[in-house]
Amino acid sequence: MILVLNSGSSTIKYRLVDPDDPGAGDKGVVERIGEPGGPADHTEALRTVFDDLRGDRPDGVGHRVVHGGDRFVRPTLLDDAAVDAIRDLTPLAPLHNPGAVAGIEAARRTFGDVPHVAVFDTAFHADLPPAAATYAIDREVAARYGIRRYGFHGISVGYVAARTAVLLDRPPGELNLVVLHLGNGASATAVHGGRSVETSMGFTPLEGLVMGTRSGDLDPALPGFLQRAGMSPSEVDGLLQHRSGMAGLCGAGDMRTVDERRVAGDAAANLAFDVYCHRIRKYVGAYHATLGRLDAVVFTAGIGENSPAVRAASLAGLDGWGITVDPDRNNGKGMRVISPPDARVAVCVVPTDEEHAIAEAVTTFLP
Ligand code: ADP
Repeated sequence: MILVLNSGSSTIKYRLVDPDDPGAGDKGVVERIGEPGGPADHTEALRTVFDDLRGDRPDGVGHRVVHGGDRFVRPTLLDDAAVDAIRDLTPLAPLHNPGAVAGIEAARRTFGDVPHVAVFDTAFHADLPPAAATYAIDREVAARYGIRRYGFHGISVGYVAARTAVLLDRPPGELNLVVLHLGNGASATAVHGGRSVETSMGFTPLEGLVMGTRSGDLDPALPGFLQRAGMSPSEVDGLLQHRSGMAGLCGAGDMRTVDERRVAGDAAANLAFDVYCHRIRKYVGAYHATLGRLDAVVFTAGIGENSPAVRAASLAGLDGWGITVDPDRNNGKGMRVISPPDARVAVCVVPTDEEHAIAEAVTTFLP
């Protein structure tokens, strides 16, 4: 069994994964680390996890790490130097990497005698072509601060791309895909022969699609404008990270709520839904152009897997491009093709499983 940990600054999500039996294994979350009433630190939190495992030792531990920078381009066996290097990436991911490092250090203390492997959300995008990875800003400023498009959600997108090849019964190396990971965070990725060639999240996970509380794309002059209007840099960050997206537009960041209100006739929710789907459609068109030939559009994560309304609205009007959603298939369940049988481009729903993908990576390091 592989223990997979997703450690944030105040939470640890964990799942025990049997790589040969995707459905099996306990999971849970320890919350409020370092807060009143919660565990004092990540080590104490992991004691709860250890108790939940009833003292069973996992064969290896996989750690989800959001940002690997330029240094980590594949799953990496953790030693002290690697942990230090992840800590050094904190300026690039101040909200994410410190929690991951705290979780790794606590887990190495708690489960010391098994391999610990870090798996990075950025790694799948490490080989983005330079034309896609480069922002058109002063190259010396970019070099000084490591400013480039890194891309995120890579653990999910890599897994989903591989599963799509199985679903379509085609060799992964032959497929051109647009993968739409639509959860609380949301991203689009163009995948050519199993490799990421363009992706909508950039230097941080703020760019690209509309999200639950994040704006996605906007005019880069806006933060400067708002600061001159009197907001502090951290207020601008807070606005774009936590009070934008669907939450900013209609007061609800959760798609289920947005959809209920929209169906009930709420105009703000209706606009939020339209802005959300319009942005997706724009990216599908752009990435179709980037890829040249498109074999499939793939929906995954909470919204992508569960919202027929979003899937239908996002791809509406693209029939001329060979992209059509069949209403009956769209309303079905599980991993499936939802386009008509003769469609030029397959539209697919493929459930993601990031913990399983991480566990598979860990098994390659086991003796
Ligand atoms: P995370 O990015 O935190 O892993 P998820 O992938 O679980 O998040 O996605 C969460 C999103 O999925 C929320 O916006 C939630 O409303 C949405 N979602 C979950 N189930 C449904 C559903 N049946 N219909 C529409 N949206 C759903």
